[in-house]
Amino acid sequence: MGSHHRDPDRHQLAHQGGRRLPCHQRQDGEIVRHVPLNNFYRLLRSRFRAFMAEDIDVTWGKKLVDVSYSSDPEEEVDGHSTVTAHFADGTSATGRLLLGADSSNSRVRALLLGPERARLHRLSIAATFIDCSFTREQALYLRRTHPLVNLIVHPDGMMGMLAALDCTDASRPETWRFAFYISWRTSAAEQDAEAASGQWGPRERLAQAKEKSLAFADPMRSAYAWMPDDLETVYYTPNGNWDPSMPDHKWDNHGGCITLVGDSAHPMTYHRGQGLNHAIDDAGHIVKLLAKQGNRPLSAVIGEYEAEMRPRAGEEVRLSEMNSYMLHDWDKLSHSPFMTANLTKGTPKSFAAPSTPANGEDSTTTSNGEDHS
Ligand SMILES: Cc1cc2nc3c(=O)[nH]c(=O)nc-3n(C[C@H](O)[C@H](O)[C@H](O)COP(=O)(O)OP(=O)(O)OC[C@H]3O[C@@H](n4cnc5c(N)ncnc54)[C@H](O)[C@@H]3O)c2cc1C
Repeated sequence: MGSHHRDPDRHQLAHQGGRRLPCHQRQDGEIVRHVPLNNFYRLLRSRFRAFMAEDIDVTWGKKLVDVSYSSDPEEEVDGHSTVTAHFADGTSATGRLLLGADSSNSRVRALLLGPERARLHRLSIAATFIDCSFTREQALYLRRTHPLVNLIVHPDGMMGMLAALDCTDASRPETWRFAFYISWRTSAAEQDAEAASGQWGPRERLAQAKEKSLAFADPMRSAYAWMPDDLETVYYTPNGNWDPSMPDHKWDNHGGCITLVGDSAHPMTYHRGQGLNHAIDDAGHIVKLLAKQGNRPLSAVIGEYEAEMRPRAGEEVRLSEMNSYMLHDWDKLSHSPFMTANLTKGTPKSFAAPSTPANGEDSTTTSNGEDHS
């Protein structure tokens, strides 16, 4: 796993305080908390994907547009029902099990549940993600506070992150790439109005992010000031989630032919970084169940996976939503799951859910079926 890390020197980094994640606050960059980072990996997506794909025959560049199921015995394989994925280029692939792993705006989820029930639940938070390289001196400066990741909570209802994205060539800091976001509270109505105006491209979002960064201390403030105004790697993202444990979100797995995993099954907010953890958990459960399938029908195997995944991931979707709102509310910050449970997967034993809803206007602990605008 270490060889797929964003920085091959990460073991040395541990001696420089790399096992503790600093959480800063605004005015002077004071560190309000050190979050323990046991078994912490920041993986380079491209390398991790290559590692996971070893010895697997992957066909890249296919876009799934539709799914169909065997309707007569002639279409069955060895007496088993089949499922066929249809791709945008007119090709298709048939097998006994289709795992929809096509991200938070999943096409497979929409096909299983219809567009309305599959739609992301909108949250009144948005973020602009940026990745950028700097000069050698600037890059070295940005890693001085923490070599891998800094989280910055802001009393004015914002959250920021500065992280190493790719620092594989340790001797050439000018090649390092860094990732940033600033997230903030903004209602769905405000998000809609901005979208309707047609005035918000990457340049405008970068200018907006630079403006917001002025309220932060270094290293965030300097990093944003150093970014060129015509930077193109700027991604505005309204936040949303989808809770697979809601009764209305139960899909028909067609006798165990098809199901959802990862973000397509449980898209969640990223402020406590649990999405990939649960995606890997999904894959692990399915592999174990298939390995000991024996004579059990696929319907039983996939049913067992879904019965385990729905409550586990649903709880994390709700907890992550509550956490995201609390991190953008200075008065509730110290009670947030991030502060009380750090980056531990699942509901921490020490975490006592607050008796009032997370953001004062949302029923985040029970249901999230409504828009939060
Ligand atoms: C800023 C940020 C920080 C995060 N930090 C963490 C963290 O610290 N820890 C953690 O555990 N998680 C974290 N996450 C979440 C994590 O990135 C996701 O949960 C994880 O990538 C989900 O994996 P996935 O395979 O389900 O989906 P993805 O990684 O989104 O992959 C889905 C793939 O499906 C493809 N696809 C989409 N539609 C189609 C289609 N129609 N046909 C064919 N292919 C399609 C996409 O191109 C993509 O390659 C973070 C997320 C963000 C945004």
